[in-house]
Amino acid sequence: MHELHSYLEGSWVRGSGEATTLLNHATEEIVGTTVTRGLDMGSALGHARAVGGPALRSLTFAERGDILRQLADAIVGIRKELLLLSTINNGATRSDSKFDIDGASFTLQAYAELGAELGDSRWLVDGQAVELARSKRFAGMHIKTPRLGAAVHVNAFNFPAWGLAEKLAVALLAGMPVVTKPATATGLTAWRMTQAFVETGALPEGALSFIAGSAGDLIDHLQFGDVLAFTGSSGLGRRFKSAPHLAAGGVPVNVEADSLNAAVVGPDVDRDGDTFAMAMRDIFRDMTQKTGQKCTAIRRVLVPEDLVEDAIEGLVEAADRLKIGDPRQETVRMGPVVSAAQRTDVLEGLGELATATTKIRGSGRPSALHGVDGDKGFFVDVHLFAASDPAASMAADIVHDREVFGPAATILPYDGSVEQATALLARGGGGLVASVYTDDRRFTRDMLLAAAPYHGRLHLGSRRVAESAPGPGTVMPQLVHGGPGRAGAGEELGGIRGLDLYMQRTAVQGYKPLIEKLLDGT
Ligand code: NAP
Repeated sequence: MHELHSYLEGSWVRGSGEATTLLNHATEEIVGTTVTRGLDMGSALGHARAVGGPALRSLTFAERGDILRQLADAIVGIRKELLLLSTINNGATRSDSKFDIDGASFTLQAYAELGAELGDSRWLVDGQAVELARSKRFAGMHIKTPRLGAAVHVNAFNFPAWGLAEKLAVALLAGMPVVTKPATATGLTAWRMTQAFVETGALPEGALSFIAGSAGDLIDHLQFGDVLAFTGSSGLGRRFKSAPHLAAGGVPVNVEADSLNAAVVGPDVDRDGDTFAMAMRDIFRDMTQKTGQKCTAIRRVLVPEDLVEDAIEGLVEAADRLKIGDPRQETVRMGPVVSAAQRTDVLEGLGELATATTKIRGSGRPSALHGVDGDKGFFVDVHLFAASDPAASMAADIVHDREVFGPAATILPYDGSVEQATALLARGGGGLVASVYTDDRRFTRDMLLAAAPYHGRLHLGSRRVAESAPGPGTVMPQLVHGGPGRAGAGEELGGIRGLDLYMQRTAVQGYKPLIEKLLDGT
């Protein structure tokens, strides 16, 4: 059993009072404990601002990038151990664990490379000088410099490793110290990863703080100069966004919240072709990878009416073949959801979907479980629903609004038109990613332009990429992650774009040769 400590003001510390337990969600055994009560969050933030900030700002992008490279190597160095911890505390199969942990090192490495590319400067120059008066002497430019406070990162339970790393990579490269907090229920991997980061000796004092458990009053201490990046439920995201002290201090609050991501199968798609097979593969992977606990998972499947039976048949067959059980077993392909509370929420959501649609498959707890003792573990079967009239009020309210964060999706028949597909996509109120499967160029273009304003990312599936695309659920560091509306209206990653959250853009005007020389980035 692991006793998790927080890393604050350069020391590993533990709070006092009754500890919270972390479980193996397949067996319900206790695998760790943590307590943060009594830890001084205000002082920890002050240390990050006063010590970590200046240390990071004194480094060039290349030097910050080199730190990220060492952090990526640290993950690789304890990869086997992390995979095991992920399996016992995240309910994740080996393949799901790799997705999280390799995703973390890959993202850190990608930003390490960006740091090397940005080289010896400490700030970014944004665009060229523009002449502002009749005289060529007076001109203006834009620069971006690191914000002077601390970046607070609050993460969801589903990607404890990647979630920590993707935010950390961007903030450190921008030059901001980080106070990071994983969700308590799955904090084990993030805690061990942070230990490895600290052990590298690469991080300047105060550059990284880690809260192993409840954040206490951390958010109350945020002030001008700080940044809050939150991933989690939309309700909490809204609360942070509207917190009066954050608004008054002008603290940027980036929210990555929930999303009812959709897949659209185009009217040209042939049931026996590669594009249909790709769509079915992606949809089923998203329903079951990480037991459907992915913010990018496909929840709504828009299929032309004449392909509905084929889609149902394909997904049900795949679900029937899937081995569910203790993720430590090699043959198991789907583990439990991550807590009793999560299971309750998923089962409630499935019940709501069943009232508005036809249930095709799924019966709460799976009837066959591998390597599981009795009724232990927070297991949920793969559920598939079909809505006969997805635009009708009751189905629409639930299917397009209730995020069931588990192994479930709903088939929505549509007439094959861009107009109807877009109208249904729009009911989601803004999403992280939508996928369009088609080999028709015109349908692709029309869908792309119609769907883009509702989404942060569009995944275009076709026979040309059927063998090479990793699917819509994989978030790449080079592309932005986030989405409008209920998805939180936030934006992370996207290569250099991600740094904007942690940097202040300033317009500088004056004598052109002077500002060009002063702001050349080095
Ligand atoms: P959650 O209940 O909103 O919790 C998210 C995080 O907020 C956890 O670390 C939680 O800590 C923390 N938290 C709760 N109250 C806090 C407070 N007063 N101050 C500071 N932190 C606080 O969400 P979740 O159940 O972990 O995650 C599931 C949701 O996240 C889903 O809706 C999913 O769609 C969304 N999600 C979105 C993305 C995305 O990128 N858009 C990615 C993953 C997940 P404790 O665990 O200690 O309570």
